[in-house]
Amino acid sequence: MNKKVVIIGSGFSSLSASCYLAKAGFQVSLYEKNGSLGGRCGQLVREGFTFDMGPSWYWMPDIFDKFFADFGKKRADYYSLDKLSPAYKIFFSDDVVTIGDTMDKIGAEFERIEKGSAAHLIKFIARARENYDIAINKVVLRPGISPFELVTPETLLRMDRFFKTISGQVRRKFKNPKLVSILEFPVLFLGARPKNTPSFYSFMNYADFGLGTWHPKGGMYEIVRALKKLAQELGVQIRTNSPIDKIRVEKGRAVGIASKGHNIDADVVLSGADYHHSETLLDIKHRQYSEAYWEGRTFAPSSLLFYVGFDKKLGNIEHHNLFFDTDFDRHTREIYDEPRWPKDPLFYANFPSVTDASMAPQGFETGFFLVPIAPDLDDTPELRCRYFDIVLKRFEERTGEPVRNNIIFKESFCVNDFVRDYNSYKGNAYGMANTLLQTAFLRPKLKSKKVKNLYFTGQLTVPGPGVPPSLISGKLVSELIAKTFRS
Ligand SMILES: Cc1cc2nc3c(=O)[nH]c(=O)nc-3n(C[C@H](O)[C@H](O)[C@H](O)COP(=O)(O)OP(=O)(O)OC[C@H]3O[C@@H](n4cnc5c(N)ncnc54)[C@H](O)[C@@H]3O)c2cc1C
Repeated sequence: MNKKVVIIGSGFSSLSASCYLAKAGFQVSLYEKNGSLGGRCGQLVREGFTFDMGPSWYWMPDIFDKFFADFGKKRADYYSLDKLSPAYKIFFSDDVVTIGDTMDKIGAEFERIEKGSAAHLIKFIARARENYDIAINKVVLRPGISPFELVTPETLLRMDRFFKTISGQVRRKFKNPKLVSILEFPVLFLGARPKNTPSFYSFMNYADFGLGTWHPKGGMYEIVRALKKLAQELGVQIRTNSPIDKIRVEKGRAVGIASKGHNIDADVVLSGADYHHSETLLDIKHRQYSEAYWEGRTFAPSSLLFYVGFDKKLGNIEHHNLFFDTDFDRHTREIYDEPRWPKDPLFYANFPSVTDASMAPQGFETGFFLVPIAPDLDDTPELRCRYFDIVLKRFEERTGEPVRNNIIFKESFCVNDFVRDYNSYKGNAYGMANTLLQTAFLRPKLKSKKVKNLYFTGQLTVPGPGVPPSLISGKLVSELIAKTFRS
């Protein structure tokens, strides 16, 4: 075909698109502003500790496997995967709940907390599985062009699942607040609060309990390495340290990009950088969405992250740990309704070296702590310090494990870093939330409505936030591009 595509950014969606487009016969060059690939899935290696800087939950292994299969490859050709057992642990103020790696174990834990809940759970997960099959095999693979994409024989029979909320569905059958929080937790990955998320998204609960939580040996960055290798095997040219400052348009058609004053010509321009930022690379008349449009969207949270190296092994923790020991509703209000630094934050702590010795020096522990916060909050060294104290104090209280004097490495990452490193709109971490009014055809489009041969991909467009959706986004946009050039 010999048509030239330039891709801006090297997040999962860009890397995925680069592979599909190269396979379809395009000449593909990818330009990343930073020195390393992977976007929000960065890696920090310091003093023998290896930190995944962004994603750490490997869910929906089937989607990764399908991705590699599309290229006649196996995921195992690139990295090895372990199913975590237990999947994760949740610290409440009066209890610690362990989520096992089988439905039987999880059912037993539910039954311990609320009599009769195991039977409800089996039905809930059966429905979630049905939603998963429909979502993953039908709905998610459509490019978000028309509302009719959501109309399939399967969805028509289940329209109520788009108008009822996950929160309502959970609360109808489960009364114990801990079980409610556990079942509402997976949709937080979609960036929205459970009471605004359609119950159809319970497919995330099937991903959680039905498919399990996995860990790529060496950490999540192994997926980035795998995609880079595959892209290079397919002939993709990759350039790092190449910030793009302009998408060039002539006579209503994208004709290339400019980086550091140099023009690079192309037949197609595809941007996988944050959608808002990508549009700022265009003259105003070529932008599809106004600042008022972006202001009016519900964005997924930003995060305050601490990457910490400990000089000992820690007790009473698992690979993934959620600290739901404060008021869940108040924290979500402080993210979505009255954006401010949370008074008593919920947080997440990840210790990959518990199951993967390659992530820390022998006898040491690699940890990262994540506090979800509203985007665009003031981000100062003092606030980071204050929250580190809050998190460590609660961590020590809940786990009974003193750690304060065992820290030999610490770095933080927050709103200002998201903006500086990824050109993220208001420092969001996970893009635009998947609420009912921001789902499928209601999300920013893959194909520009104003400029020919200009396309977008990534977590702000379809299907939405998360590593598996970003891989799918790259596939969907490549199919649109290939279709245009075939016809
Ligand atoms: C802290 C955190 C935790 C997360 N946890 C999980 C998890 O556990 N599981 C999960 O599935 N997902 C998780 N996610 C979400 C997941 O990481 C993202 O949805 C996904 O990585 C987004 O990929 P993307 O392709 O949209 O692009 P991004 O990763 O945003 O990449 C965009 C790229 O474009 C580059 N760029 C920007 N502007 C320019 C420019 N002008 N020129 C050149 N390059 C440019 C950026 O540097 C970046 O490399 C998490 C995200 C974060 C931040």
